[in-house]
Amino acid sequence: MVRLHADSGRRRQAGRSFVEVIFILLILGAAFAYYAPKYLGVGTGMSSPKTDASVLSDARDVSCRTNLNVIRQAVAAKRTSGATVKTLEDAGIAGDAKCPAGAEAYTYSAESGSIRCPHPGHEAF
Ligand SMILES: [Zn+2]
Repeated sequence: MVRLHADSGRRRQAGRSFVEVIFILLILGAAFAYYAPKYLGVGTGMSSPKTDASVLSDARDVSCRTNLNVIRQAVAAKRTSGATVKTLEDAGIAGDAKCPAGAEAYTYSAESGSIRCPHPGHEAF
């Protein structure tokens, strides 16, 4: 009698944890079904997963933004110190500083102090 009671208790406990595992799997399955299309780019009307070329292009865009930030900070620091910055070389920037995407030289306006990238699509950087 005691043994039977103990068995049924163990079985009930095992049954409960099985239901819990199934429940967790259902939640994970639902989460996967919801998020997978976003990451795999399927069934959402989104473009297909990124190609190597587009990843490379994105990396060059980021690199260009970073270059511009560094150059702007160098020019701003030089101007703040009271120096006249007529060219990027005056701010210690190598004369061959170029956009990594199109290899265009960055443009610098001594009057406004603005530094721009002439590469198409980088005008707003
Ligand atoms: Zn650029």
